Amino acid sequence: MSANEVQREQISERLEEIRTRMEKARHLYGTHAAGAELVAVSKTFPADAIRPLLALGQRVFGENRVGESLQKWPDLKRDFPGVELYLIGPLQTNKVADAVALFDVIQTLDREKLARYLAREMERTGRVLPCFVQVNVGREPQKSGVDPDEAVAFVQLCRKTYGLKIAGLMCIPPRGENPGPYFAMLGQLAQQAGVDQLSMGMSADFEIAIGMGATHIRVGTALFGDR
Ligand SMILES: *Cc1c(COP(=O)(O)O)cnc(C)c1O
Repeated sequence: MSANEVQREQISERLEEIRTRMEKARHLYGTHAAGAELVAVSKTFPADAIRPLLALGQRVFGENRVGESLQKWPDLKRDFPGVELYLIGPLQTNKVADAVALFDVIQTLDREKLARYLAREMERTGRVLPCFVQVNVGREPQKSGVDPDEAVAFVQLCRKTYGLKIAGLMCIPPRGENPGPYFAMLGQLAQQAGVDQLSMGMSADFEIAIGMGATHIRVGTALFGDR
């Protein structure tokens, strides 16, 4: 087998394993754990490592840097119609135009200035992207996201003042802690804010996230290997 075929086989096995784990979690946690969308996190991996997964039919991907995505995704999107690209990393206002042009969903809306820039760019271009508000569930100083106490008001602000389409909430719980209570908190905040999508759970904890109502899990390492 060529190196390409080996790579293809490996990612095919990993994808199948993740799908099986997702299905098991769904059964374990019962009917409220409706099907979650698998967002394949391809950050740091070159286009050639992503193509095999696209060839297998995966269409939803997450990237955390606008610049890196501009290098990889215009060609991949051209070659594989139907790709949905999620921005899952911090967005600077000077990259908003590029982000709105390339991405299909913004999951890291976390401050009013960014809401203002996004609204203006979407109005200017007519490209209306659903956004998720990122919540700093562990109140960690080094992490982005709005404070949990401000999340509901921030969703309202984004909707009423800026007319943004807020689809849900997103979080990255503190490392090394049981993520369950944080996932539960995100679910409660979403209910209070009147949004129904929850982007939570990564390679290490996506089963728990599915059990707590995740609609989107973001999986990198378990699919592509170590970065
Ligand atoms: C990198 C990243 C992921 C994927 O993490 P893995 O542990 O590799 O699955 C998920 N969400 C965000 C925001 C990330 O930056």
